[in-house]
Amino acid sequence: MQGTYDQENIFAKILREEAPCVKVYENDNALAFMDVMPQTDGHVLVIPKEPAETIYDLSEDASLACMRAVQIVGKAIEQAMGVGGSTVFQLNGKAAGQTVPHFHFHVLPGSLLGLKGHASEMADPQTLMDIAEKIKSFID
Ligand code: AMP
Repeated sequence: MQGTYDQENIFAKILREEAPCVKVYENDNALAFMDVMPQTDGHVLVIPKEPAETIYDLSEDASLACMRAVQIVGKAIEQAMGVGGSTVFQLNGKAAGQTVPHFHFHVLPGSLLGLKGHASEMADPQTLMDIAEKIKSFID
């Protein structure tokens, strides 16, 4: 809910450049970066630049921008990771298991089968940067 949006959540800090991220793509209204606790190699998050907690809070512009970013990044992830398919999911609210209260799509190569636990294990930073470079190489 916009009224209760937590300006101190980690993605708000990333957007204000107060916290780092390994960026893979950006447009006027959305940003895509590597998940630091990936459920598989190539796990990317797409977030709106506006303060929205769930999908129900998103403006039309941000919805379009996020969807466009998912399309661009998802195709690049499939190519970079050499997988002929990908999975997109997102959680709304604590009751659904959302841990960061800023809207985001999870975009992952392959299927949900065999994934690591949600937000369970920090990735090696260099590995994240190497994978990000590979994904970026498939974005025009
Ligand atoms: P959710 O539980 O759907 O809100 O997902 C939040 C995701 O954000 C999890 O997959 C976390 O691994 C990820 N995450 C948490 N902090 C960061 C961060 N600083 N940079 C990148 N990803 C993060």
